[in-house]
Amino acid sequence: MSADVVSFIRELYRTNDFVPLHAPTFNGNELKYVTETIESTFVSSVGKYVDDFERKIEAYTGSIKAIATVNGTAALHTALYMAGVKSGDYVITQALTFVATCNALHHMGAEPIFVDVAKVSLSLCPVALDNYLTDNAYSNDKGCFHKTNNRRIGAVVPMHTFGHPAELDEIVAVCAKWNISLVEDAAESLGSFYKGKHTGTIGDLGALSFNGNKIITTGGGGMVLCKDADLGKHTKHVTTTAKVPHPYEFFHDEPGFNYRLPNLNAALGCAQMESLPGFLQQKRLIAQQYQAFFANTEFDFVDEPDYAQSNYWLNAVICPDEETRDRLLKTTNEAGVMTRPIWKLMHRLPFLSNSLRGDLTNSEFIEAHLINLPSSPILDGIEV
Ligand SMILES: *Cc1c(COP(=O)(O)O)cnc(C)c1O
Repeated sequence: MSADVVSFIRELYRTNDFVPLHAPTFNGNELKYVTETIESTFVSSVGKYVDDFERKIEAYTGSIKAIATVNGTAALHTALYMAGVKSGDYVITQALTFVATCNALHHMGAEPIFVDVAKVSLSLCPVALDNYLTDNAYSNDKGCFHKTNNRRIGAVVPMHTFGHPAELDEIVAVCAKWNISLVEDAAESLGSFYKGKHTGTIGDLGALSFNGNKIITTGGGGMVLCKDADLGKHTKHVTTTAKVPHPYEFFHDEPGFNYRLPNLNAALGCAQMESLPGFLQQKRLIAQQYQAFFANTEFDFVDEPDYAQSNYWLNAVICPDEETRDRLLKTTNEAGVMTRPIWKLMHRLPFLSNSLRGDLTNSEFIEAHLINLPSSPILDGIEV
């Protein structure tokens, strides 16, 4: 079976060369726009592409205000800061995530509490969240607090794994019931919609990433999505240097981050946004091909939840057991077809090993059984 997978992927990508997991694709105006920034000399913190890129993301996602940042980790850090997370708070998230989620809350001086993911989405499970809170927390008009030490639970951060949206209506309801802010880590889910609404726009704030391996890239970059215009304005203020506008005086009215995305990177982002609909179409076709190939095998293709439209950022299958997974990883990687296991659960990392956590049955199962498959969009189309 492993050898069949290799030949299937080679046919899909029509190549005998190395097949990466996810390569960036530049087939539009990237060179033109980036060259324009260089010729204009506006490569850094001033220039029209930053505004253009933010407005394009707002139009596409329906976000009230989008603020470009240097990377997705910075976007998430800013989102948690604006959500009012404080040093010493807990933040509830999933153990099954990329480390950047935990890095961002660590930089706030917060500590994670890990709860399980749902099998349907690989993303934060609302039932596990509510169960953890019922067993361990109390809430009042000041917020939600842990029973054992009265420390505040400052935010809940679901991550839409591989672009599959979490069950957001239910998570929103749990957050409202317990009086906790909701910040979506939508780093992997540009182009993914939950019941017609773009991921990252449903919580109080959201964060996107445009790292080189994401569905579109700005080299490095991220975006904070805000639900509220005033909050958006304040967020923009904070991500620059919190300078009060004045023709020549320097006055900064609060601490700022220097998280602004350079114009050079934003130019790349504007071109990539023009290509996004095409990438999404290609990725959906690739997902369909994988799904057809793995039908009636011992592997379970990870399909989008029926309430959502996923971007299929990274395709994945659940293997019948760990040995089969390890064999498939070895055969494919030795054959120059890049596949990867999912991340190690966050509480296995040394700096997070003492974190509080609930039952993680689904996370542990997925950790041991899932493989990611090559998922770059294919330029010249595929027949279905
Ligand atoms: C990519 C990613 C981020 C942010 O990554 P940057 O590399 O900082 O842009 C955050 N969370 C998750 C889950 C990610 O996959």
